[in-house]
Amino acid sequence: MTLVQNSLKALTSPATGTTPFSPQQFDAHVMTTYGRFPIALERGRGCRVWDTEGREYLDFVAGIATCTLGHAHPAMVEAVTQQMQTLHHVSNLYYVPEQGELARWLVQHSCADRAFFCNSGAEANEGAIKLARKYAHTQRGIQTPVIITAQASFHGRTLATITATGQPKYQKNFDPLMPGFFYVPYNDIAALRDAIATLDADQPQVAAIMMEALQGEGGVRPGDVDYFKQVRQICDEKGILLILDEVQVGMGRSGQIWGYENLGIEPDIFTSAKGLGGGIPIGAMLCKSHCDVFQPGDHASTFGGNPFACKVALTVCQTLEKDDLLKNVRLRGEQLRLGLQEIAKCYPTAIEQVRGWGLINGLVLSETAPMTSVDVVKAAMQEGLLLVPAGPQVVRFVPPLIVSADEVQIALAKFEKALASVAA
Ligand SMILES: *Cc1c(COP(=O)(O)O)cnc(C)c1O
Repeated sequence: MTLVQNSLKALTSPATGTTPFSPQQFDAHVMTTYGRFPIALERGRGCRVWDTEGREYLDFVAGIATCTLGHAHPAMVEAVTQQMQTLHHVSNLYYVPEQGELARWLVQHSCADRAFFCNSGAEANEGAIKLARKYAHTQRGIQTPVIITAQASFHGRTLATITATGQPKYQKNFDPLMPGFFYVPYNDIAALRDAIATLDADQPQVAAIMMEALQGEGGVRPGDVDYFKQVRQICDEKGILLILDEVQVGMGRSGQIWGYENLGIEPDIFTSAKGLGGGIPIGAMLCKSHCDVFQPGDHASTFGGNPFACKVALTVCQTLEKDDLLKNVRLRGEQLRLGLQEIAKCYPTAIEQVRGWGLINGLVLSETAPMTSVDVVKAAMQEGLLLVPAGPQVVRFVPPLIVSADEVQIALAKFEKALASVAA
């Protein structure tokens, strides 16, 4: 049975006891902000998920680089259950021990001194933008601070973060955008120097440079070590803050806990979300003490850092460490890239390259390839492998960090079949 035929059947399994509904009925009540693939997933374990028709998939999406420990991980099940039975939400009117413990872990395992907790990547970046603006006003006397970001970046869907995002497709029809942003090509130091010279010509305006250590949504494009070393140097010389958006690449996915560790530099501020809670919503903005200019009342979040989310995130962090998942990420990442490079050799004109760090990898299709990334993702789904595009030309592989050698091997075999079917 094809996926489209599947989708015409009920989306909800009778086993769950809920009223079955079709995709049409779903779309009647849920805003159609997403282009959804025509399956509904109802169960998961480890790196596998099952749809409402009982079909099994190997999950190399992991909720878009989010389910760090895969599905139904015993440590997460235990943490969720135990914390729910103890205390799940109070307020930041009070001290929250789990929040303090999570902050301590993050600080001990990064270059940062302090953390602020929120609920998503966009919100973490909002916090970083606010902190950088306040720092520019209060520490450098800048009246109209500008934050430089990169073309092809992705920083979220709020108004400030679509403005920070250097991709017009996310901004179209949502103007007026936020003032105070300027875009430069990624990994291009001359363009960055030019931009700063122009913006700061009369008086200093550049408050911060905000970038991803590896561009995720924009096409799985790793940052260049030389480039980022020079960016760090420029920031130090001029008092500009370096903000790194670690929402997708952070929390072990790159083979290091933080993406910036692959670049040999430290940011002043960085953000985390996706993988931090292993699929439970949580975001964090961390900074070094020299730029922590927030005071009580400056920033807040009702849900941010509640006992439930923090306990689960702490469990994810501790499991990452206890099970030496960074080692697994490096080994499995290497295995996956080598396998993909072998497959790519059979399609020299359609596939341009395979790139990435650890377990965030992209297979880049050439501009003349007879298929798009969505075509490949659909074909892989037919083979029982979940993948996600990163733009029209890049197929992204972001499995849970617990993925095994066997699972990588199976995924490669499925992917090879999928490519053959879509190329035919
Ligand atoms: C996903 C993503 C965001 C936005 O995160 P949300 O939780 O969806 O708000 C921001 N930055 C990067 C690099 C991301 O990959």
